[in-house]
Amino acid sequence: MDLQPSSGLFEHGLRVMENGQAVVIEGLHGAGHGRPVPGPPAEIRLFLANGLLCCLWRVTTDRLAMQQQLVEAERRYRLLARHTSDVVVELDSDHRIVWVSESIEARLGWRPDALIGQPAIGLVHREEWVQVLRAGLSLAGPGSFREDLRILCADGGWLWMMGTAHPLPGEEAGALVLSLRDIHDQVRIRTELDHRLQHDPLTSLPLRSVALDRIRHALDGLEGTGSSLTVLSIGVDGLTQVNDALTHAGGDKLIALLAARIVRAIGHPEQVGRGTGDEFIVLLSEQDAGADVTLTAERILRACRVPVSIAGQPIDPTVSIGIATARAGVLPDELLRDASLAMRQAKGRGRNCYALLDDALATEAHTLLLFAAEIQRGLVMGEFAAWFMPIVAFDTGQVTGYEALARWVRPDGIEVPPAEFLPCAECRGLITRIDLLVLRQALAALSRLPPTLTMAVNVSAATLALPDYPQLVSEALRAAQVVPERLHLEVTETALLTVTDRIGQQIQQLASSGVRWYVDDFGTGYSSISHLRDLPIAGLKLDRSFTCAMRAKDTKSLRLAQALVGVAEGLELDTVAEGVETIEEARLLTSQGWLHGQGWLYGKAAPLQLDTAPGPL
Ligand code: C2E
Ligand code: CA
Ligand code: CA
Repeated sequence: MDLQPSSGLFEHGLRVMENGQAVVIEGLHGAGHGRPVPGPPAEIRLFLANGLLCCLWRVTTDRLAMQQQLVEAERRYRLLARHTSDVVVELDSDHRIVWVSESIEARLGWRPDALIGQPAIGLVHREEWVQVLRAGLSLAGPGSFREDLRILCADGGWLWMMGTAHPLPGEEAGALVLSLRDIHDQVRIRTELDHRLQHDPLTSLPLRSVALDRIRHALDGLEGTGSSLTVLSIGVDGLTQVNDALTHAGGDKLIALLAARIVRAIGHPEQVGRGTGDEFIVLLSEQDAGADVTLTAERILRACRVPVSIAGQPIDPTVSIGIATARAGVLPDELLRDASLAMRQAKGRGRNCYALLDDALATEAHTLLLFAAEIQRGLVMGEFAAWFMPIVAFDTGQVTGYEALARWVRPDGIEVPPAEFLPCAECRGLITRIDLLVLRQALAALSRLPPTLTMAVNVSAATLALPDYPQLVSEALRAAQVVPERLHLEVTETALLTVTDRIGQQIQQLASSGVRWYVDDFGTGYSSISHLRDLPIAGLKLDRSFTCAMRAKDTKSLRLAQALVGVAEGLELDTVAEGVETIEEARLLTSQGWLHGQGWLYGKAAPLQLDTAPGPL
């Protein structure tokens, strides 16, 4: 301590010694070790005790400096509170606003003092109340919450903000500090993306998956109520023709237009969805449907059939509506499938009408579904195989080739004929798998037969339409190392009706490679002589029903068969008569001019036994 005269302490000390009275000196800065050094402000008390001069030195904080520090902190804090992008709110234990940062004015337009004492929940959107209350409760203990909330702006609008709350230590239980961060743009982009993922860009309607979710949700809500839900499946009539005439852009315009008309007729866009292809889905609760759901269907039919012009082309659009109703416990896709079935029924009745699903149709659909699953299992388990039926030349009686016919031999040994499984496989999209399986097995068998023999394989309309069908056939031929000329592909007259330009080119491409095309069941389908003119047809197969009729001495059939063979001869086509069961039939057909025969007289369809084939019969 420095008691030199210069510090002033020395004089005070002398005075205390002279008059014995204690002195308190404030605001002195300390110094030590013989030379003045800056030290903390101090309070010095000088007094006499037992004749000794005592000095009590107490370091104090400079109030002035403290005040200056406070002012500085306040300035910084104001700066922060005004310019921070977040809004900070202090809430008391009743969650009323005690204090709010000035930044709220820039973010939400509120003057901070206008909010003091207000309940904070009043600033939160009603739809988030439950969320906030739940989160608030979980804050009863230590912890914090983070929620995306819509916060009320002074102009009545809403801003998405992320609210983070922490309990205030040292305050009453329940007091919080809440920080709100602007995430409006983030939420908007996220919502837009979600919308895009869930909605059809063409019509802005929810996609099938979303509609299914809504049906599921609605059905769940029916649990224990006894109420029902109705689903309408609305199919655009003749969309394929519009696409063909006006390209897909024209078809898209029609779909968008009809979507808008359906939404207007229903009144609630969220009850309408986009199904697959040309289908729309409408959900109607019992209240929506009113007393009679058919009135709603008629309203939609009327709204849709107003004439319109697309790309300068006048169009009279119509729709067909299927109606299915269910109570709780039904699966959503079952209900939707039932509505689609009824819609197809309406189309079958001539379009521009509605149909209610009847029980028989629903049961049939269910059975078909189970059967299709069985076929699928059989395919996976390798239960399907090609069996072979000989085809002979009438003049020599020699086997010239075989027809491959699909067979399903189930594990219990039951042999299911194609007539039973083909219709189901056809409508469940399994027919192409069967056709290709038979094609490969047939060619593998053919590769083991003498090179003079041929193999006939049946082709369904669906298989014929596969865009890579020519490649698949070529690959199968290559794999079996068989020349294309030995393969005969049989298409029915009915399947030929579905031939478009593209499919026609595929038929041509395969014919050019050497494959020979035959018209199957000739004389029974929608015969069109133009097919024989326009397509590279190599032969005709007379349907079995003609041979049966001949057996019954039906003269009309006899004459027709005679005329048909005349057409074939004129066009230099090969001919095969099917269903030959007796030697008399074989003679009659030979006398008419038919070149080949096939039927039980020569052999039934069976797995190929190489040691017995071929040989003169
Ligand atoms: P299809 O192509 O006209 O085949 C001839 C059908 O008549 C065969 O019946 C054959 O067993 C039967 N048949 C032949 N000769 C006689 C006879 O003298 N008397 C009698 N009562 N029947 C005879 P299957 O095998 O039951 O085949 C029925 C139909 O199933 C076939 O008619 C064909 O349209 C279709 N089919 C068979 N296999 C396939 C395949 O792999 N793919 C496709 N798409 N269809 C196939
Ligand atoms: Ca055939
Ligand atoms: Ca046939």
